[in-house]
Amino acid sequence: MSSNRICPICGREITKVDKYKPSTYCDNDACRDYSKYKTALEKAILKINPTSDARKVIRGDMFRLCNLLSNGTNTSGSKNDL
Ligand SMILES: [Zn+2]
Repeated sequence: MSSNRICPICGREITKVDKYKPSTYCDNDACRDYSKYKTALEKAILKINPTSDARKVIRGDMFRLCNLLSNGTNTSGSKNDL
C-alpha cells in the first residue's frame, strides 16, 4: 500500500524512496532551504520587535517576496513574442 507523499513546499510528489529515513521534502534542495529559512525568519521577526517605521520596511520585503511568487510562475515561457 503506497501512499504518495507530497512536498509541503512545492506541492509536487516526493519520488525519492528511502525506507529508513522518509524525506519530508522533494529532491529540490530549495524546498528544504525555504522551509529552514522561513522558520529562521519567523524567529528573527519575533526577536526584532521593530519600530513602526522598520515594520514598514519589513512589510515591503514581504510584499516583494509575494510578488516573486506571482511573477515567477507567470513570466517564464508563457510569452515569447518580441
Ligand atoms: Zn518540493
